Amino acid sequence: MLNVDLHCHSNMSDGTLAPSEVAARAKANGVDVWALTDHDEIDGIPAARAAAEALDMVYVPGVEISITWAGETVHIVGVQIDETNTALIEGLRATRSGRELRAHEIAAQLATVGIPDAYAGALKYVGNPDLISRTHFARYIHELGIQPDISSVFRHYLAEGKPGYVPHRWATLAQAVSWIRAAGGVAVVAHPGRYKFSELAFGEFFSEFKQLGGTAIEVLTGSHSVEQYATYTQVAKRHGFLASCGSDFHDPHESRIDLGKLPPLPAGLTPVWHDWGF
Ligand code: AMP
Ligand code: MN
Ligand code: MN
Ligand code: MN
Repeated sequence: MLNVDLHCHSNMSDGTLAPSEVAARAKANGVDVWALTDHDEIDGIPAARAAAEALDMVYVPGVEISITWAGETVHIVGVQIDETNTALIEGLRATRSGRELRAHEIAAQLATVGIPDAYAGALKYVGNPDLISRTHFARYIHELGIQPDISSVFRHYLAEGKPGYVPHRWATLAQAVSWIRAAGGVAVVAHPGRYKFSELAFGEFFSEFKQLGGTAIEVLTGSHSVEQYATYTQVAKRHGFLASCGSDFHDPHESRIDLGKLPPLPAGLTPVWHDWGF
């Protein structure tokens, strides 16, 4: 059985390893088919592809796009994208452009709760100046020694409703799916178990996604509990979605699930890679 990991991050977004280092770690962990899916950024793809091919892994070009749906942030993964597609490149550029101003707003809000100079602090952790993320702020706040780990920093400072949270309008669902499809890719709902939608809202979200040409959801992800593996297996079957899986690896110490360490997809699902020819 192939070991497939179609979701992870490098220092081109909020991961800590370079694309080639992520590739090497994937290979060392037994991954056969691998996609790097940086947030709103595809500049890591050439290095990732070269490293994957040198290591004899099947390389899948990917991205994870931030969108806003019904006021909530949702992530849409695109896999098998042509990263030279102009609609995709321009769309991602526009999506990234709001991050700089947002980062200054986050820093200003953190200053009011006793964390000064967080912009400069976060910047120390940024690998790509176009992609400053809440994760970089989290690493800086963690460095200050006031929270034991990154996830408690999020819970106390950066999650919705907390002092460092700045509401942001990302791309729309229609835009993200259209950029992915224009680039010949497959649109995948990332970690559906993370969104705080009612059952009704989820139903509307999935049907709009499908209507726009979205075809897959992540069933297994580092963000899902074992119970959620079962829940989203049922969701995929009920809505006729293809199933994807990926660790959502960011860093050797921060990530709950390492590259290549998810269990195999549950039986009865059609993998998103079913017609990719390997
Ligand atoms: P941003 O796109 O700047 O809003 O940052 C979103 C990123 O923050 C996600 O991709 C995760 O890597 C990280 N993140 C969000 N919530 C949490 C959490 N509760 N614990 C750890 N990391 C989180
Ligand atoms: Mn992230
Ligand atoms: Mn995500
Ligand atoms: Mn991710």
